[in-house]
Amino acid sequence: MKNILISIILLLSNSFAYGVTDALECPICLDTLDNSDSELPCSHRIHSFCLEQLRKINVNQVCPVCRDPLPPSMEEKLFEEGFSIYSKLKSSFDQGEISWTTLSKEQKRFIDLWSIAAFKGNPSAQYYLGLCYKDGRGVEINSIKALELFRLASAQGHTEAQFNLGLFYYEGKLVSVDFCEAIKWFYLAAEKNHEEAQCIIGICYVNGQGVTQNFSQALSWLYSCQSQGNSKAILTIGEVKKRIIKIKRQRRLSLWRSFFMREEKIFHSR
Ligand SMILES: [Zn+2]
Ligand SMILES: [Zn+2]
Repeated sequence: MKNILISIILLLSNSFAYGVTDALECPICLDTLDNSDSELPCSHRIHSFCLEQLRKINVNQVCPVCRDPLPPSMEEKLFEEGFSIYSKLKSSFDQGEISWTTLSKEQKRFIDLWSIAAFKGNPSAQYYLGLCYKDGRGVEINSIKALELFRLASAQGHTEAQFNLGLFYYEGKLVSVDFCEAIKWFYLAAEKNHEEAQCIIGICYVNGQGVTQNFSQALSWLYSCQSQGNSKAILTIGEVKKRIIKIKRQRRLSLWRSFFMREEKIFHSR
């Protein structure tokens, strides 16, 4: 009897050693799994609730056990489905075949899909839906909704949304002009190599908008934008250089003027 017990204990301990329990426990909360829980493409299993939480905090979106990519979430699937409809419409629009204002209910389905995904917190859906409300694509123009959606996507680090949010403050659309707030969002986008954000930061340094006027900083931002082939940066660099030459000339002239005035004073006082 004693021998049988020892055999059972050994068998169980071997099972633990080979990870039989691993397959039954959620790798996040270590609670027992049941049949309704999610199985990842890598065949590791995890509670659906724990998977949802993991998506929110796991920046790399990988399996916690083997680091294989996680499958797309429901919101990502909705966004992608909407994006494939939108892309086809966009290329038809670019070729002048359709107008955004006369889309059928079926064609407008991308708005419904993105609305659900945006509500569930998908930053890409929030940004693209914001763009639709900003430019009136498939919906009536609504700048308030666009601004709100750009804010939501920007808070989640969406680069294009951050640039567009910066533009709202830079141009004073719906909000008061606030160059400091604008440059905060432009910086976040520019750090992720957003060309137009880099270019506009350069212009802010030229004009002293939200930052102290600084031509060398301006040129440095504009050069990094130019290196990506941005034509606006090339033009602005030319203008900045002309402005620097003009300012240097004016400084030299005023120095000469004050020198001659002093000399004249001394001459007349003799
Ligand atoms: Zn769990
Ligand atoms: Zn895995």
